[in-house]
Amino acid sequence: MRVPRSLPLMNAPLPLVFHPAPAQADLARALRASVAGDVLFDAASRGRYSTDASIYQVEPVGVLVPRTMDDVHVALDICRSMRIPVLPRGAGSSQCGQTVGNALVIDHSKHLDNVLAFDAAAMTVTIEPGIVLDRLNAWLRPKGVWFPVDVSTSAQATLGGMAGNNSCGSRSIAYGNMVHNVRAIDATLADGTCASFGPESMMHDAPARVRSLLSALRGIADRERDEIARKVPHVMRRVGGYNIDVFAPQSERPYTADGSVNYAHLLVGSEGTLAWTRALTLALAPLPAHRTLGVVNFPTLYRAMQCAQHLVQLGPSAVELVDRTMIELARSNPAFRPIIDGALIGEPDAILLVEFTSDDRAHTLSRLDRLVELMGDLGLPGSVVTMRDAAPQRALWEVRKAGLNIMMSMKGDGKPVSFIEDCAVPLEHLADYVDRLTQVFAKHGTRGTWYAHASVGTLHVRPILDMRRDGAAKMRAIAEEAGAMVREYKGAFSGEHGDGLVRSEWVGWQFGPRLTRAFGEIKDLFDPEGLLNPGKIVRSTRMDDASLFRYRPGYRTLPVDTALDWSDWNVHADPAADTVTPPGTGGDPAQGFAKAVEMCNNNGHCRKFDAGTMCPSYRATRDEQHLTRGRANTLRLALSGQLGPDFANDAVRDALDLCVSCKGCRRECPTGVDMAKMKVEFLHHWRAKHGLAMKDRLVAYLPRWAPWAARFPWIANARDTMPGARALSERWLGLASRRTLPAFRRDTFLARTASRHGNGDTADVVLFVDTFTNYYEPDNAHAALAVLEAAGYRVDIARPVSRDGDTARPLCCGRTFLAGGLVREARREAQRVIDALAPAVARGAAIVGLEPSCLLSLRDEFLSLKLGPAAQAIAPRAFLFEEFLASQRGSHHLDSKLTALPQRRALLHGHCHQKAFDAMAATRDVLSLVPDLAVEVIESSCCGMAGSFGYEARHYDVSMRMAELSLLPAVRNASADTLLVADGTSCRHQIADGAGREAVHVARVLASALTSRVG
Ligand SMILES: Cc1cc2nc3c(=O)[nH]c(=O)nc-3n(C[C@H](O)[C@H](O)[C@H](O)COP(=O)(O)OP(=O)(O)OC[C@H]3O[C@@H](n4cnc5c(N)ncnc54)[C@H](O)[C@@H]3O)c2cc1C
Ligand code: SF4
Ligand code: SF4
Repeated sequence: MRVPRSLPLMNAPLPLVFHPAPAQADLARALRASVAGDVLFDAASRGRYSTDASIYQVEPVGVLVPRTMDDVHVALDICRSMRIPVLPRGAGSSQCGQTVGNALVIDHSKHLDNVLAFDAAAMTVTIEPGIVLDRLNAWLRPKGVWFPVDVSTSAQATLGGMAGNNSCGSRSIAYGNMVHNVRAIDATLADGTCASFGPESMMHDAPARVRSLLSALRGIADRERDEIARKVPHVMRRVGGYNIDVFAPQSERPYTADGSVNYAHLLVGSEGTLAWTRALTLALAPLPAHRTLGVVNFPTLYRAMQCAQHLVQLGPSAVELVDRTMIELARSNPAFRPIIDGALIGEPDAILLVEFTSDDRAHTLSRLDRLVELMGDLGLPGSVVTMRDAAPQRALWEVRKAGLNIMMSMKGDGKPVSFIEDCAVPLEHLADYVDRLTQVFAKHGTRGTWYAHASVGTLHVRPILDMRRDGAAKMRAIAEEAGAMVREYKGAFSGEHGDGLVRSEWVGWQFGPRLTRAFGEIKDLFDPEGLLNPGKIVRSTRMDDASLFRYRPGYRTLPVDTALDWSDWNVHADPAADTVTPPGTGGDPAQGFAKAVEMCNNNGHCRKFDAGTMCPSYRATRDEQHLTRGRANTLRLALSGQLGPDFANDAVRDALDLCVSCKGCRRECPTGVDMAKMKVEFLHHWRAKHGLAMKDRLVAYLPRWAPWAARFPWIANARDTMPGARALSERWLGLASRRTLPAFRRDTFLARTASRHGNGDTADVVLFVDTFTNYYEPDNAHAALAVLEAAGYRVDIARPVSRDGDTARPLCCGRTFLAGGLVREARREAQRVIDALAPAVARGAAIVGLEPSCLLSLRDEFLSLKLGPAAQAIAPRAFLFEEFLASQRGSHHLDSKLTALPQRRALLHGHCHQKAFDAMAATRDVLSLVPDLAVEVIESSCCGMAGSFGYEARHYDVSMRMAELSLLPAVRNASADTLLVADGTSCRHQIADGAGREAVHVARVLASALTSRVG
């Protein structure tokens, strides 16, 4: 079907264009022949780009990840000639379905992200559309300026997408929305015309096509002047429709300081429907020198909302709401709990975060005092927690920014749905609006959590709906009742997130038929053939068109007999009663696995590059396929049969291939997507079908053959000593010839300590020595033993007990089997560990281990291996060496036995699993026991070695790229007398391979400090 030539001018629904396979294949061929970027037309890639952070799923025709601007222009030309629509995309974090459609999706977030110009005098920066806000601000910070539209998704939102949606930050009361901060846009129209859109004065040189376009636009605006004044809401937070009010300003805050016309503002908020943005010139603001924060605690949400109008009179830069549900959800997250607790007085029903910024510290402090006084005047004395220092403020803002994500961590099929999430109402009506809407939710058997921008009357709320069942009907009913209230209060239906698929239908409702027709005319002037992101803002589908839902009624998943226990996800939740059924009762044919995968709501938080671990393979490749979100989507599509009848298929294998199982997502994904565990489950099914390659067998069965290798280490190590053996190992086994392998030792720890007398029933600590430490680095275990004994503990060494005649072989946590997807073998190893340790656990001894990935599997994987209560009993008694010492700090007085080392500085790299289990503070803590040792943590993600991953020839390059992101440069910059500390055996190898430096386990550092005293 072709795009109709003449489009109706009313906002009548127009079906999305369907492209039959031949056209799709022609497009793919034409693009491949002409562009340098990635052309992705396979089903899985299209599936990964068929969703954004909305409830919708629409398969694109194909995907282009352009390498250059020329690629985009060529693609536009080809699509125009083939009459195939185009959809520009940044991070795809839109909540309303702006970034999904049956079009060629052009993702410019990978390559088109450069800063083009910086003008300090004019306080502007010109950038390409794919640059991410946090990255831009990191670049600007040394210059003392920033771009202040601080959206919650600042770590992933691209400036092109922010302009597309007319995004707004928490501090919009002080800085305005995108439209207030964009100075000019270099754009390409659908017919290929390139022009700069900006202030009227600069438009004289525009091409004739653009000048006639502008004069037609002006004609429409003049004609509709009265209607614009009548229908465009007079609130700052109005982002729906086109900004036709550039010609007749209606916003409380004019788009330009002098009310003059800037044509770029018409493109802002146009959601990729009018033109493709090549570059943006943005206005910058000086970085505020000082900030203070007052957290006002309220007994009721209503009271908080009533007070908002008074608080804004103090001139704050932000007033942000966090309600009771959000407070409780934040408290249930170990990382957020201490932060939120520090902001509370008693048990408030809601808190408002009131921020003041200024170059004058005294001024911000006096504002804070004024806030305290005001709350007294308003009848709430003693309700303000004041935060004068930057660190606690920053921490609390992070909790607030994580608000939506925290909320999305609800299990079950009902999810908080975004469709009235950003209605904006004047502040004097905010309390009543919240109260009445809460009642509407209750009437429809649901509830919502309230948070965000109280300063500008835009409160976020998402009722919990089950789109597979009655969600669509409830969505419409609630939207209609909310809409009636918004109209009554003269507010805006879309105050932050734009129109997309969920709200374009409401454009006519908000702006009336005349302006809706005018919007259609504007669209036709820019894009007469309807090629750019069709179906958004004008001529939309219905919000409740279930054929466009990600979870349509009747959505089914394939039955899967899971190897791991996923029952915690297999539940039903009742939002009204706030109850959840017991594990295993959710009716998932995939036994909870599918529901765990569905926890990914596509918010894109895993696309971050800043602190934390998630997601190293994305950081190295910047490919959607190699991102936690891309993997979860691939699995979701596969588990629901959308990639074929068998979920264990090649597309999933490819998506999981570069997942290094770092567990970064387990901790950092706001909804707890645990891709490392999902990879084990997948590999189990994959191996059942495809068997095990020789290399994988060698790695997986290491614990079984290691005893033999230790007897004849010169044979086992021959691969690195015999000429030509490395090359052969690459050819035959796929092991990277550029790597050395860890060397087997004959003097294993367990052999050396075999004759040692144990402490029997009196031992406080059982040292669990893993396969890697025992065979490759026994010195670490000796060091740990020495330190623990010096600290006064009676230590036993974990050894196997008789079970199925397998006593000779040392214990092993089963990690290598899990990495290969051999769950049954891993379970067998875990059972041996449980049998051996159960008596010690029963009498309360601590199980202490050295290698993070091994020891922490006792706290993590063991619980998923369906091993029953004995596994549950071990988990809380299992500690990393450093965790144990840190937790006992008051009792062991180890510090008195340590003396200074020759080195005065230690650079610490955390193993991913240490970070995932929050063990880094403990590592720092025990290192700080060494006198005069300054400890600095390298802000690094995964080292890239990740077990056997980096040793594989096909992963070598990406492994090194991961290491080069931050770890290796930091190590190379460290002076020769800096102590390098890394507790992971693979991390130490990567540091040795990549930087030629030796890193040591923390146990060795402490043992050296002990030795130097003794010596
Ligand atoms: C958890 C969460 C929190 C959020 N918080 C906020 C918030 O605080 N404030 C806020 O305003 N929004 C928020 N959003 C919505 C969203 O993150 C923002 O709108 C963001 O700016 C979108 O950026 P993006 O790069 O993901 O754009 P995308 O979603 O990729 O694109 C957005 C729109 O811009 C268009 N577009 C992209 N690039 C171009 C281009 N080069 N040329 C023309 N059109 C283009 C797209 O077609 C699309 O219509 C939130 C979303 C989530 C999931
Ligand atoms: S994996 Fe987690 S962080 Fe990434 S998009 Fe999904 S929910 Fe968000
Ligand atoms: S386990 Fe690590 S590499 Fe794998 S998806 Fe999660 S964050 Fe990314």
